[in-house]
Amino acid sequence: MVGGGLAGLSSAVALAEAGWRVRLLEKRPHLGGRATSYTLPDGSEIDNCQHVTLGCCTNLADFYRRVGAADKIRFYNRLYFADAKGKVSTIEASPLPPPLHMAPSFLLFGSLTLADKRGIANALLSIARAGGAPDDIEGLSMQEWLERRRQTPGAIARFWRVVLVSALDEELSRTDARYGIDVFWKGFLSTRAGYRVGIPAVPLAKLYDGCRAAIESRGGEVRLRCGVRQIRTEGDRFVGAELEDGSEIAADACVLAVPHDAVATLLPRDSNRRAALLEDLRQIKVSPITGVHLWFDRTVMTQPFLTLLDHTTQWIFNKSLLCGESAPNGDGPPPAEGTTSERKGEGAAESAEASAGSQYLQLVISASYDLVPKSRQEVIAFCMRELADVLPPTRQARLVKGTVVKEVSATFSPEPGVDRWRPGAADSGIDKLFLAGDWTRTGWPATMEGAVRSGYLAAESLLSDFGQPRNFLRPDLPPEGLCKIWAGRRNSAGAAHHGETSPGPRKEKARI
Ligand SMILES: Cc1cc2nc3c(=O)[nH]c(=O)nc-3n(C[C@H](O)[C@H](O)[C@H](O)COP(=O)(O)OP(=O)(O)OC[C@H]3O[C@@H](n4cnc5c(N)ncnc54)[C@H](O)[C@@H]3O)c2cc1C
Repeated sequence: MVGGGLAGLSSAVALAEAGWRVRLLEKRPHLGGRATSYTLPDGSEIDNCQHVTLGCCTNLADFYRRVGAADKIRFYNRLYFADAKGKVSTIEASPLPPPLHMAPSFLLFGSLTLADKRGIANALLSIARAGGAPDDIEGLSMQEWLERRRQTPGAIARFWRVVLVSALDEELSRTDARYGIDVFWKGFLSTRAGYRVGIPAVPLAKLYDGCRAAIESRGGEVRLRCGVRQIRTEGDRFVGAELEDGSEIAADACVLAVPHDAVATLLPRDSNRRAALLEDLRQIKVSPITGVHLWFDRTVMTQPFLTLLDHTTQWIFNKSLLCGESAPNGDGPPPAEGTTSERKGEGAAESAEASAGSQYLQLVISASYDLVPKSRQEVIAFCMRELADVLPPTRQARLVKGTVVKEVSATFSPEPGVDRWRPGAADSGIDKLFLAGDWTRTGWPATMEGAVRSGYLAAESLLSDFGQPRNFLRPDLPPEGLCKIWAGRRNSAGAAHHGETSPGPRKEKARI
Protein backbone atom coordinates (compact mmCIF):
# COMPACT_ATOMS: atom_id res chain seq x y z
CA MET A 1 0.00 0.00 0.00
CA VAL A 2 1.59 3.29 -1.06
CA GLY A 3 -0.03 6.18 0.83
CA GLY A 4 -1.54 6.32 4.31
CA GLY A 5 -4.49 8.64 3.64
CA LEU A 6 -8.05 7.40 4.01
CA ALA A 7 -7.92 5.56 0.67
CA GLY A 8 -4.75 3.67 1.61
CA LEU A 9 -5.82 3.02 5.20
CA SER A 10 -9.27 1.69 4.29
CA SER A 11 -7.84 -0.52 1.56
CA ALA A 12 -5.08 -1.82 3.85
CA VAL A 13 -7.50 -2.62 6.67
CA ALA A 14 -9.88 -4.40 4.25
CA LEU A 15 -7.05 -6.46 2.75
CA ALA A 16 -5.70 -7.33 6.19
CA GLU A 17 -9.17 -8.54 7.16
CA ALA A 18 -9.14 -10.70 4.04
CA GLY A 19 -5.99 -12.38 5.37
CA TRP A 20 -3.30 -10.45 3.47
CA ARG A 21 -0.04 -9.28 5.02
CA VAL A 22 -0.08 -5.61 4.12
CA ARG A 23 2.94 -3.32 4.18
CA LEU A 24 1.74 0.29 4.25
CA LEU A 25 4.30 2.92 3.19
CA GLU A 26 3.56 6.56 4.04
CA LYS A 27 6.06 9.28 3.32
CA ARG A 28 4.91 11.65 6.06
CA PRO A 29 5.44 11.12 9.81
CA HIS A 30 1.71 10.58 10.43
CA LEU A 31 -1.30 8.76 8.99
CA GLY A 32 -4.45 10.33 7.52
CA GLY A 33 -3.11 12.26 4.51
CA ARG A 34 -5.22 15.37 3.99
CA ALA A 35 -7.62 14.34 6.78
CA THR A 36 -5.11 14.50 9.62
CA SER A 37 -3.91 16.68 12.48
CA TYR A 38 -0.50 17.75 13.75
CA THR A 39 1.15 19.61 16.60
CA LEU A 40 2.20 23.26 16.24
CA PRO A 41 5.57 24.38 17.72
CA ASP A 42 3.69 25.82 20.74
CA GLY A 43 2.17 22.41 21.49
CA SER A 44 -1.41 22.97 20.26
CA GLU A 45 -2.73 20.13 18.12
CA ILE A 46 -4.72 21.31 15.11
CA ASP A 47 -6.51 19.54 12.28
CA ASN A 48 -5.06 20.17 8.85
CA CYS A 49 -8.58 21.51 8.40
CA GLN A 50 -11.86 20.74 10.14
CA HIS A 51 -13.40 17.69 8.47
CA VAL A 52 -17.08 16.81 8.73
CA THR A 53 -18.99 13.78 7.55
CA LEU A 54 -22.72 13.36 6.89
CA GLY A 55 -25.16 10.62 7.80
CA CYS A 56 -25.22 9.49 4.15
CA CYS A 57 -21.50 8.62 4.19
CA THR A 58 -22.01 4.91 4.78
CA ASN A 59 -18.54 3.68 3.85
CA LEU A 60 -16.68 6.17 6.00
CA ALA A 61 -18.92 5.14 8.92
CA ASP A 62 -18.14 1.49 8.15
CA PHE A 63 -14.39 2.24 8.13
CA TYR A 64 -14.57 4.10 11.46
CA ARG A 65 -16.40 1.08 12.91
CA ARG A 66 -13.77 -1.36 11.61
CA VAL A 67 -10.93 0.61 13.24
CA GLY A 68 -12.75 1.38 16.50
CA ALA A 69 -13.16 5.12 15.82
CA ALA A 70 -16.95 5.32 15.46
CA ASP A 71 -17.48 6.55 19.02
CA LYS A 72 -15.10 9.47 18.38
CA ILE A 73 -17.55 11.00 15.87
CA ARG A 74 -20.50 12.96 17.28
CA PHE A 75 -23.59 13.50 15.15
CA TYR A 76 -25.72 16.65 15.22
CA ASN A 77 -29.35 16.77 14.05
CA ARG A 78 -29.66 20.53 14.16
CA LEU A 79 -27.87 22.81 11.68
CA TYR A 80 -27.27 26.48 12.52
CA PHE A 81 -27.22 29.27 9.92
CA ALA A 82 -26.24 32.90 10.66
CA ASP A 83 -27.30 35.69 8.29
CA ALA A 84 -25.42 38.92 7.55
CA LYS A 85 -26.51 40.44 10.86
CA GLY A 86 -25.79 37.35 12.91
CA LYS A 87 -29.42 36.24 13.25
CA VAL A 88 -29.38 32.46 13.68
CA SER A 89 -31.92 30.13 12.02
CA THR A 90 -31.90 26.38 12.46
CA ILE A 91 -32.79 23.46 10.23
CA GLU A 92 -33.59 19.96 11.43
CA ALA A 93 -35.72 16.98 10.51
CA SER A 94 -39.38 16.72 11.51
CA PRO A 95 -41.41 13.49 11.78
CA LEU A 96 -42.78 13.97 8.22
CA PRO A 97 -41.75 11.29 5.70
CA PRO A 98 -38.86 12.11 3.29
CA PRO A 99 -38.62 14.25 1.27
CA LEU A 100 -40.93 16.37 3.44
CA HIS A 101 -39.02 15.88 6.70
CA MET A 102 -37.10 19.17 6.35
CA ALA A 103 -40.11 21.15 5.11
CA PRO A 104 -41.26 22.67 8.44
CA SER A 105 -37.75 24.03 9.25
CA PHE A 106 -37.39 25.23 5.68
CA LEU A 107 -40.72 27.08 5.76
CA LEU A 108 -39.71 28.86 8.96
CA PHE A 109 -36.19 29.62 7.73
CA GLY A 110 -35.80 33.39 8.18
CA SER A 111 -33.23 34.25 5.53
CA LEU A 112 -35.17 33.37 2.37
CA THR A 113 -38.12 35.18 0.75
CA LEU A 114 -41.33 33.44 -0.24
CA ALA A 115 -40.27 33.57 -3.90
CA ASP A 116 -36.88 32.03 -3.03
CA LYS A 117 -38.62 29.26 -1.10
CA ARG A 118 -41.18 28.52 -3.81
CA GLY A 119 -38.43 28.09 -6.41
CA ILE A 120 -36.28 25.96 -4.12
CA ALA A 121 -39.23 23.73 -3.16
CA ASN A 122 -40.06 23.12 -6.84
CA ALA A 123 -36.47 22.27 -7.72
CA LEU A 124 -36.07 19.95 -4.71
CA LEU A 125 -39.34 18.22 -5.52
CA SER A 126 -38.20 17.64 -9.09
CA ILE A 127 -35.02 15.97 -7.77
CA ALA A 128 -37.02 13.82 -5.34
CA ARG A 129 -39.66 12.78 -7.89
CA ALA A 130 -36.89 11.76 -10.29
CA GLY A 131 -35.41 9.46 -7.65
CA GLY A 132 -32.35 11.70 -7.46
CA ALA A 133 -31.63 11.58 -11.20
CA PRO A 134 -33.44 14.30 -13.20
CA ASP A 135 -33.18 13.71 -16.96
CA ASP A 136 -32.04 17.21 -17.86
CA ILE A 137 -28.61 17.33 -16.20
CA GLU A 138 -26.21 15.82 -18.75
CA GLY A 139 -23.24 18.11 -19.36
CA LEU A 140 -24.72 20.96 -17.28
CA SER A 141 -23.07 22.86 -14.49
CA MET A 142 -25.08 23.25 -11.29
CA GLN A 143 -25.42 26.96 -12.02
CA GLU A 144 -26.94 26.19 -15.45
CA TRP A 145 -29.33 23.64 -14.01
CA LEU A 146 -30.49 26.09 -11.33
CA GLU A 147 -31.04 28.79 -13.92
CA ARG A 148 -33.12 26.37 -15.98
CA ARG A 149 -35.16 25.74 -12.84
CA ARG A 150 -35.70 29.51 -12.54
CA GLN A 151 -34.07 29.88 -9.14
CA THR A 152 -34.00 33.44 -7.78
CA PRO A 153 -30.61 35.09 -7.12
CA GLY A 154 -31.46 34.95 -3.40
CA ALA A 155 -32.16 31.21 -3.55
CA ILE A 156 -28.89 30.57 -5.35
CA ALA A 157 -26.79 32.76 -3.04
CA ARG A 158 -28.40 31.86 0.27
CA PHE A 159 -29.37 28.26 -0.22
CA TRP A 160 -27.82 26.31 -3.10
CA ARG A 161 -24.40 27.99 -2.95
CA VAL A 162 -24.23 27.82 0.84
CA VAL A 163 -24.70 24.05 0.88
CA LEU A 164 -22.83 23.10 -2.26
CA VAL A 165 -19.64 25.18 -2.23
CA SER A 166 -18.67 23.78 1.15
CA ALA A 167 -19.79 20.24 0.25
CA LEU A 168 -18.05 20.13 -3.13
CA ASP A 169 -15.28 22.74 -2.78
CA GLU A 170 -16.16 24.49 -6.01
CA GLU A 171 -18.24 27.34 -7.41
CA LEU A 172 -21.63 26.33 -8.86
CA SER A 173 -20.58 27.36 -12.38
CA ARG A 174 -17.70 24.85 -12.22
CA THR A 175 -19.65 22.01 -10.57
CA ASP A 176 -21.21 19.14 -12.50
CA ALA A 177 -24.97 19.29 -11.87
CA ARG A 178 -24.94 15.56 -11.11
CA TYR A 179 -22.71 16.12 -8.06
CA GLY A 180 -24.79 19.04 -6.82
CA ILE A 181 -28.04 17.12 -7.17
CA ASP A 182 -26.52 14.06 -5.48
CA VAL A 183 -25.70 16.14 -2.39
CA PHE A 184 -29.35 17.11 -2.00
CA TRP A 185 -30.74 13.67 -2.89
CA LYS A 186 -28.45 11.71 -0.55
CA GLY A 187 -28.09 14.34 2.15
CA PHE A 188 -31.39 16.15 2.42
CA LEU A 189 -34.16 14.41 0.48
CA SER A 190 -34.07 10.62 0.28
CA THR A 191 -33.55 9.72 3.93
CA ARG A 192 -34.16 11.22 7.32
CA ALA A 193 -30.61 10.68 8.60
CA GLY A 194 -28.57 11.63 5.51
CA TYR A 195 -28.10 15.29 6.52
CA ARG A 196 -26.83 14.69 10.05
CA VAL A 197 -23.46 16.33 10.52
CA GLY A 198 -20.77 14.13 12.05
CA ILE A 199 -17.85 15.92 13.68
CA PRO A 200 -14.81 14.24 15.26
CA ALA A 201 -14.50 14.94 18.98
CA VAL A 202 -10.74 14.28 18.81
CA PRO A 203 -7.93 15.59 16.59
CA LEU A 204 -8.19 13.82 13.22
CA ALA A 205 -4.97 11.79 13.55
CA LYS A 206 -6.41 10.05 16.64
CA LEU A 207 -9.12 8.45 14.47
CA TYR A 208 -6.51 6.20 12.88
CA ASP A 209 -5.02 4.69 16.04
CA GLY A 210 -6.83 1.39 15.33
CA CYS A 211 -5.50 1.07 11.76
CA ARG A 212 -2.00 0.11 12.76
CA ALA A 213 -3.33 -2.62 15.07
CA ALA A 214 -5.69 -3.94 12.36
CA ILE A 215 -2.78 -4.24 9.90
CA GLU A 216 -0.12 -5.48 12.32
CA SER A 217 -2.34 -8.08 13.99
CA ARG A 218 -2.49 -9.85 10.63
CA GLY A 219 1.29 -9.84 10.21
CA GLY A 220 1.55 -6.61 8.23
CA GLU A 221 3.43 -3.40 9.03
CA VAL A 222 2.98 0.37 8.84
CA ARG A 223 6.06 2.39 7.92
CA LEU A 224 6.01 6.18 8.35
CA ARG A 225 8.55 8.59 6.79
CA CYS A 226 8.86 5.98 4.08
CA GLY A 227 8.34 7.58 0.68
CA VAL A 228 8.21 5.50 -2.48
CA ARG A 229 10.34 6.84 -5.32
CA GLN A 230 9.20 4.54 -8.10
CA ILE A 231 7.07 1.52 -8.84
CA ARG A 232 9.08 -1.40 -10.28
CA THR A 233 7.72 -3.58 -13.08
CA GLU A 234 8.86 -6.52 -15.17
CA GLY A 235 7.18 -6.34 -18.53
CA ASP A 236 3.77 -4.96 -17.64
CA ARG A 237 3.62 -6.64 -14.24
CA PHE A 238 4.19 -4.98 -10.87
CA VAL A 239 7.06 -6.54 -8.90
CA GLY A 240 8.00 -4.03 -6.20
CA ALA A 241 8.91 -0.50 -5.27
CA GLU A 242 12.04 1.59 -4.93
CA LEU A 243 11.99 3.69 -1.77
CA GLU A 244 13.29 7.22 -1.40
CA ASP A 245 16.23 5.93 0.66
CA GLY A 246 17.30 3.86 -2.36
CA SER A 247 16.28 0.47 -0.96
CA GLU A 248 13.86 -1.82 -2.79
CA ILE A 249 11.04 -4.00 -1.60
CA ALA A 250 9.15 -6.75 -3.42
CA ALA A 251 5.42 -7.51 -3.12
CA ASP A 252 2.78 -9.66 -4.84
CA ALA A 253 0.56 -6.66 -5.60
CA CYS A 254 0.33 -2.95 -4.91
CA VAL A 255 -2.36 -0.36 -4.30
CA LEU A 256 -1.15 3.10 -5.25
CA ALA A 257 -3.16 5.39 -2.96
CA VAL A 258 -1.43 8.74 -3.49
CA PRO A 259 -2.96 12.03 -4.73
CA HIS A 260 -3.55 12.08 -8.50
CA ASP A 261 -0.79 14.61 -9.12
CA ALA A 262 1.74 12.30 -7.43
CA VAL A 263 1.03 9.33 -9.71
CA ALA A 264 3.12 10.62 -12.63
CA THR A 265 6.45 10.47 -10.83
CA LEU A 266 5.84 6.99 -9.44
CA LEU A 267 4.88 5.01 -12.54
CA PRO A 268 7.71 3.51 -14.60
CA ARG A 269 8.37 5.48 -17.76
CA ASP A 270 8.24 2.51 -20.09
CA SER A 271 4.71 1.44 -19.12
CA ASN A 272 2.37 1.47 -22.15
CA ARG A 273 -0.63 2.76 -20.25
CA ARG A 274 1.34 5.45 -18.43
CA ALA A 275 1.07 8.15 -21.09
CA ALA A 276 -2.69 7.72 -21.56
CA LEU A 277 -3.37 7.57 -17.82
CA LEU A 278 -1.22 10.60 -17.11
CA GLU A 279 -2.86 12.53 -19.93
CA ASP A 280 -6.27 11.82 -18.31
CA LEU A 281 -5.02 12.79 -14.86
CA ARG A 282 -3.63 16.06 -16.22
CA GLN A 283 -7.20 17.07 -17.13
CA ILE A 284 -8.31 16.90 -13.49
CA LYS A 285 -8.17 20.37 -11.96
CA VAL A 286 -7.90 21.16 -8.25
CA SER A 287 -9.54 23.69 -5.97
CA PRO A 288 -8.35 25.24 -2.70
CA ILE A 289 -9.66 25.25 0.88
CA THR A 290 -8.46 27.70 3.52
CA GLY A 291 -8.70 26.92 7.23
CA VAL A 292 -8.33 29.74 9.74
CA HIS A 293 -7.59 28.86 13.38
CA LEU A 294 -8.31 31.57 15.94
CA TRP A 295 -7.84 31.50 19.72
CA PHE A 296 -9.74 34.14 21.75
CA ASP A 297 -9.25 35.19 25.35
CA ARG A 298 -12.93 34.60 26.14
CA THR A 299 -16.06 32.76 25.02
CA VAL A 300 -17.36 34.33 21.81
CA MET A 301 -19.65 31.57 20.49
CA THR A 302 -22.16 29.22 22.09
CA GLN A 303 -23.31 27.03 19.16
CA PRO A 304 -21.21 23.94 18.30
CA PHE A 305 -20.91 25.20 14.70
CA LEU A 306 -22.42 27.84 12.44
CA THR A 307 -22.94 28.05 8.67
CA LEU A 308 -22.67 31.61 7.39
CA LEU A 309 -24.90 33.25 4.79
CA ASP A 310 -23.77 36.35 2.85
CA HIS A 311 -20.12 35.94 3.84
CA THR A 312 -16.95 34.48 2.36
CA THR A 313 -16.41 32.35 5.48
CA GLN A 314 -18.69 29.33 5.17
CA TRP A 315 -18.40 27.49 8.47
CA ILE A 316 -17.28 28.35 11.98
CA PHE A 317 -16.52 25.42 14.27
CA ASN A 318 -16.44 25.92 18.01
CA LYS A 319 -13.46 23.63 18.57
CA SER A 320 -13.32 24.22 22.34
CA LEU A 321 -16.83 22.86 22.59
CA LEU A 322 -16.62 20.15 19.93
CA CYS A 323 -13.36 18.66 21.18
CA GLY A 324 -13.21 19.93 24.76
CA GLU A 325 -14.07 18.33 28.06
CA SER A 326 -17.54 19.82 27.83
CA ALA A 327 -18.14 18.52 24.30
CA PRO A 328 -21.83 17.83 23.77
CA ASN A 329 -22.51 14.20 22.97
CA GLY A 330 -24.05 15.11 19.59
CA ASP A 331 -27.82 15.01 19.41
CA GLY A 332 -28.30 11.31 19.86
CA PRO A 333 -29.82 9.03 17.21
CA PRO A 334 -31.67 10.38 14.16
CA PRO A 335 -35.39 10.96 14.70
CA ALA A 336 -37.24 7.83 13.57
CA GLU A 337 -39.91 8.12 10.91
CA GLY A 338 -43.25 8.99 12.45
CA THR A 339 -41.89 9.85 15.89
CA THR A 340 -41.21 13.14 17.59
CA SER A 341 -37.92 14.72 16.67
CA GLU A 342 -35.11 13.82 19.14
CA ARG A 343 -33.53 16.85 20.72
CA LYS A 344 -31.51 15.19 23.44
CA GLY A 345 -28.26 17.05 24.06
CA GLU A 346 -29.16 20.03 21.90
CA GLY A 347 -29.78 22.33 24.85
CA ALA A 348 -26.51 21.22 26.34
CA ALA A 349 -24.78 22.11 23.10
CA GLU A 350 -26.12 25.64 23.14
CA SER A 351 -25.59 26.39 26.79
CA ALA A 352 -22.29 24.65 27.40
CA GLU A 353 -19.46 27.07 28.10
CA ALA A 354 -16.13 26.67 26.40
CA SER A 355 -13.18 26.14 28.71
CA ALA A 356 -13.24 29.14 31.01
CA GLY A 357 -11.51 32.22 29.73
CA SER A 358 -10.57 31.12 26.22
CA GLN A 359 -12.06 29.74 23.06
CA TYR A 360 -10.64 28.14 19.94
CA LEU A 361 -12.59 28.55 16.68
CA GLN A 362 -11.85 27.08 13.29
CA LEU A 363 -13.19 28.79 10.17
CA VAL A 364 -13.42 27.03 6.80
CA ILE A 365 -13.55 28.65 3.38
CA SER A 366 -13.93 26.23 0.47
CA ALA A 367 -13.16 27.19 -3.15
CA SER A 368 -11.06 29.94 -1.52
CA TYR A 369 -9.46 31.14 -4.77
CA ASP A 370 -9.56 34.80 -3.65
CA LEU A 371 -7.79 34.11 -0.35
CA VAL A 372 -4.92 32.07 -1.74
CA PRO A 373 -2.82 35.12 -2.80
CA LYS A 374 -3.44 36.97 0.49
CA SER A 375 -0.95 36.96 3.36
CA ARG A 376 -1.71 35.22 6.65
CA GLN A 377 -2.30 38.60 8.36
CA GLU A 378 -4.67 39.72 5.60
CA VAL A 379 -6.68 36.49 5.82
CA ILE A 380 -6.97 36.76 9.61
CA ALA A 381 -7.97 40.45 9.44
CA PHE A 382 -10.59 39.62 6.79
CA CYS A 383 -12.05 36.79 8.86
CA MET A 384 -12.10 38.93 12.01
CA ARG A 385 -14.26 41.48 10.15
CA GLU A 386 -16.68 38.73 9.14
CA LEU A 387 -16.77 37.34 12.67
CA ALA A 388 -17.65 40.79 14.01
CA ASP A 389 -20.91 40.59 11.98
CA VAL A 390 -22.03 37.18 13.14
CA LEU A 391 -20.40 36.82 16.56
CA PRO A 392 -20.52 40.30 18.19
CA PRO A 393 -18.53 39.19 21.29
CA THR A 394 -15.45 38.89 19.03
CA ARG A 395 -15.45 42.71 18.71
CA GLN A 396 -14.36 43.06 22.34
CA ALA A 397 -12.38 39.83 22.62
CA ARG A 398 -8.61 39.69 22.30
CA LEU A 399 -7.24 37.42 19.60
CA VAL A 400 -4.59 35.46 21.46
CA LYS A 401 -3.20 33.74 18.39
CA GLY A 402 -4.18 32.79 14.89
CA THR A 403 -2.93 30.56 12.15
CA VAL A 404 -3.94 30.01 8.52
CA VAL A 405 -3.65 26.73 6.61
CA LYS A 406 -4.06 27.15 2.85
CA GLU A 407 -4.51 23.88 0.99
CA VAL A 408 -4.11 25.04 -2.60
CA SER A 409 -4.80 21.56 -4.06
CA ALA A 410 -7.32 20.51 -1.43
CA THR A 411 -9.62 18.46 -3.67
CA PHE A 412 -10.17 17.76 -7.34
CA SER A 413 -12.58 20.17 -8.92
CA PRO A 414 -15.94 18.46 -9.68
CA GLU A 415 -16.33 20.30 -12.96
CA PRO A 416 -18.84 19.09 -15.55
CA GLY A 417 -17.67 15.88 -17.21
CA VAL A 418 -14.74 15.29 -14.81
CA ASP A 419 -15.76 11.65 -14.35
CA ARG A 420 -14.40 10.73 -17.78
CA TRP A 421 -10.86 11.48 -16.57
CA ARG A 422 -11.13 9.43 -13.37
CA PRO A 423 -9.65 5.92 -13.72
CA GLY A 424 -11.12 2.86 -12.05
CA ALA A 425 -9.16 0.84 -9.49
CA ALA A 426 -7.97 -1.65 -12.11
CA ASP A 427 -7.08 0.93 -14.79
CA SER A 428 -3.36 1.41 -14.05
CA GLY A 429 -2.45 -0.60 -17.14
CA ILE A 430 0.02 -2.55 -15.01
CA ASP A 431 -0.80 -6.08 -13.90
CA LYS A 432 -1.16 -6.37 -10.08
CA LEU A 433 -1.03 -2.57 -9.59
CA PHE A 434 -4.29 -1.01 -8.41
CA LEU A 435 -5.30 2.63 -7.97
CA ALA A 436 -7.06 4.24 -5.01
CA GLY A 437 -7.70 7.82 -3.94
CA ASP A 438 -10.63 10.20 -3.79
CA TRP A 439 -9.86 11.09 -7.43
CA THR A 440 -10.47 7.57 -8.79
CA ARG A 441 -13.83 6.66 -10.34
CA THR A 442 -16.03 6.19 -7.29
CA GLY A 443 -19.07 8.19 -8.41
CA TRP A 444 -18.44 10.43 -5.39
CA PRO A 445 -16.78 13.84 -5.17
CA ALA A 446 -13.46 14.37 -3.32
CA THR A 447 -14.51 13.54 0.21
CA MET A 448 -13.48 11.18 2.98
CA GLU A 449 -16.39 8.96 1.89
CA GLY A 450 -15.07 8.98 -1.69
CA ALA A 451 -11.57 8.09 -0.45
CA VAL A 452 -12.82 5.13 1.61
CA ARG A 453 -14.98 3.93 -1.29
CA SER A 454 -11.91 4.02 -3.52
CA GLY A 455 -9.93 2.05 -0.94
CA TYR A 456 -12.61 -0.62 -0.68
CA LEU A 457 -12.98 -0.80 -4.48
CA ALA A 458 -9.21 -1.25 -4.89
CA ALA A 459 -9.21 -4.03 -2.27
CA GLU A 460 -12.12 -5.73 -4.07
CA SER A 461 -10.34 -5.46 -7.45
CA LEU A 462 -7.13 -6.86 -6.05
CA LEU A 463 -8.85 -9.79 -4.35
CA SER A 464 -10.89 -10.61 -7.48
CA ASP A 465 -7.67 -10.59 -9.49
CA PHE A 466 -6.25 -13.21 -7.13
CA GLY A 467 -9.45 -15.28 -7.30
CA GLN A 468 -10.55 -14.37 -3.76
CA PRO A 469 -13.58 -12.11 -4.36
CA ARG A 470 -14.85 -10.16 -1.32
CA ASN A 471 -17.31 -7.29 -0.93
CA PHE A 472 -16.38 -4.31 1.22
CA LEU A 473 -18.38 -1.51 -0.37
CA ARG A 474 -21.43 -0.54 1.68
CA PRO A 475 -24.67 0.51 -0.05
CA ASP A 476 -26.15 4.00 0.25
CA LEU A 477 -28.86 4.52 2.86
CA PRO A 478 -32.06 3.19 1.27
CA PRO A 479 -34.58 5.89 0.27
CA GLU A 480 -37.46 6.33 2.72
CA GLY A 481 -41.03 7.64 2.65
CA LEU A 482 -42.21 9.04 -0.68
CA CYS A 483 -38.65 8.93 -1.99
CA LYS A 484 -38.68 5.16 -1.69
CA ILE A 485 -41.76 5.02 -3.92
CA TRP A 486 -40.37 7.53 -6.45
CA ALA A 487 -36.93 5.90 -6.61
CA GLY A 488 -38.59 2.48 -6.99
CA ARG A 489 -40.75 3.72 -9.86
CA ARG A 490 -37.77 5.29 -11.51
CA ASN A 491 -35.74 2.09 -11.28
CA SER A 492 -38.53 -0.19 -12.46
CA ALA A 493 -39.17 2.12 -15.41
CA GLY A 494 -35.56 1.34 -16.35
CA ALA A 495 -34.73 5.01 -16.63
CA ALA A 496 -31.15 6.21 -16.48
CA HIS A 497 -30.13 6.41 -12.84
CA HIS A 498 -26.88 7.65 -11.28
CA GLY A 499 -25.95 4.10 -10.49
CA GLU A 500 -26.09 3.20 -14.17
CA THR A 501 -23.78 5.97 -15.27
CA SER A 502 -21.07 5.83 -12.63
CA PRO A 503 -19.16 2.70 -11.68
CA GLY A 504 -19.19 3.06 -7.89
CA PRO A 505 -22.94 3.08 -7.36
CA ARG A 506 -23.48 0.57 -10.18
CA LYS A 507 -21.36 -2.04 -8.41
CA GLU A 508 -23.11 -1.19 -5.22
CA LYS A 509 -26.58 -1.61 -6.68
CA ALA A 510 -25.82 -5.07 -7.89
CA ARG A 511 -24.97 -6.07 -4.35
CA ILE A 512 -27.89 -4.63 -2.45
C1 LIG B 1 -8.56 21.50 3.73
C2 LIG B 1 -9.41 20.28 3.43
C3 LIG B 1 -10.68 20.16 4.00
C4 LIG B 1 -11.47 19.06 3.70
N1 LIG B 1 -12.68 18.91 4.31
C5 LIG B 1 -13.38 17.76 4.11
C6 LIG B 1 -14.57 17.52 4.84
O1 LIG B 1 -15.01 18.33 5.67
N2 LIG B 1 -15.24 16.36 4.60
C7 LIG B 1 -14.78 15.43 3.71
O2 LIG B 1 -15.43 14.39 3.56
N3 LIG B 1 -13.64 15.63 3.02
C8 LIG B 1 -12.93 16.76 3.19
N4 LIG B 1 -11.77 16.96 2.52
C9 LIG B 1 -11.36 15.97 1.52
C10 LIG B 1 -10.65 14.76 2.16
O3 LIG B 1 -9.65 15.19 3.06
C11 LIG B 1 -10.00 13.92 1.07
O4 LIG B 1 -10.95 13.64 0.06
C12 LIG B 1 -9.45 12.60 1.58
O5 LIG B 1 -8.80 12.75 2.81
C13 LIG B 1 -8.50 12.06 0.52
O6 LIG B 1 -7.92 10.86 0.97
P1 LIG B 1 -6.90 10.08 0.02
O7 LIG B 1 -6.41 8.92 0.77
O8 LIG B 1 -7.55 9.86 -1.30
O9 LIG B 1 -5.71 11.10 -0.29
P2 LIG B 1 -4.60 11.78 0.75
O10 LIG B 1 -5.32 12.05 2.01
O11 LIG B 1 -4.02 12.87 0.00
O12 LIG B 1 -3.59 10.59 1.00
C14 LIG B 1 -2.51 10.31 0.13
C15 LIG B 1 -1.31 9.90 0.98
O13 LIG B 1 -0.25 9.46 0.12
C16 LIG B 1 0.96 9.89 0.69
N5 LIG B 1 2.00 9.88 -0.36
C17 LIG B 1 2.09 10.70 -1.44
N6 LIG B 1 3.15 10.36 -2.18
C18 LIG B 1 3.74 9.30 -1.55
C19 LIG B 1 4.89 8.51 -1.85
N7 LIG B 1 5.65 8.73 -2.93
N8 LIG B 1 5.20 7.48 -1.01
C20 LIG B 1 4.44 7.24 0.09
N9 LIG B 1 3.35 7.98 0.42
C21 LIG B 1 3.00 8.99 -0.41
C22 LIG B 1 0.63 11.28 1.21
O14 LIG B 1 1.60 11.72 2.16
C23 LIG B 1 -0.76 11.05 1.81
O15 LIG B 1 -0.68 10.66 3.17
C24 LIG B 1 -10.98 18.07 2.79
C25 LIG B 1 -9.71 18.20 2.23
C26 LIG B 1 -8.93 19.28 2.55
C27 LIG B 1 -7.55 19.37 1.97
